[in-house]
Amino acid sequence: MFKAIIDNLKGLYSLLVGLFITGDFFLSPQKTTHYPRKVDDPETLKSYRGPLELVPADNYGNGKCISCQMCVRACPGHCLTVTKGDKGKEPKVYLYDFTLCCLCAACVESCPTGAIRFSHKVYMVAPTREALHLDLIADLKSRATKIDPMGTKAARLKVAKAEAEAAKAKADAEDAAKAKAGPAGSAGAPA
Ligand code: SF4
Ligand code: SF4
Repeated sequence: MFKAIIDNLKGLYSLLVGLFITGDFFLSPQKTTHYPRKVDDPETLKSYRGPLELVPADNYGNGKCISCQMCVRACPGHCLTVTKGDKGKEPKVYLYDFTLCCLCAACVESCPTGAIRFSHKVYMVAPTREALHLDLIADLKSRATKIDPMGTKAARLKVAKAEAEAAKAKADAEDAAKAKAGPAGSAGAPA
């Protein structure tokens, strides 16, 4: 009988402690972010390791990567594919499979030029696994704040079109000048 009373009192004490802890958390300010109604202050995300991104070398969407493959060799998850471009050391392909990445930083630490870093993309969602196969060069270009006059295909086509129009106008002007000078020049020419 006495033991049963003690056990019941212990159970009641345990219940009250549990209710006190629950009530304390219930009444204290919210510590999580109710996304998408609220987003975190970017300052608080500085230490967050999001998916890798290339570090910009300028505002035109150029990076620091020299296609040395050190990050590819260092990666334990085989997440990275880097292919050197035809000219210079700049890569033409830099693919990153975020589904395989364990965010270990071996790639970041092995890079001799500081060309890659962890982004602070905390609100990243993907409907498929393929959507997490990331093209880091395209991502770098999308973050450019200035347009390189020869940096995009559209810009190159625009420049090529302008050059073609200028060349045609010049040729037309020369033809017109020749046609104008033709009769006068042929007057003195032998028959
Ligand atoms: S963080 Fe680690 S796992 Fe992810 S790409 Fe870099 S080396 Fe590979
Ligand atoms: S990101 Fe760095 S380590 Fe990787 S290929 Fe480019 S320069 Fe080399």
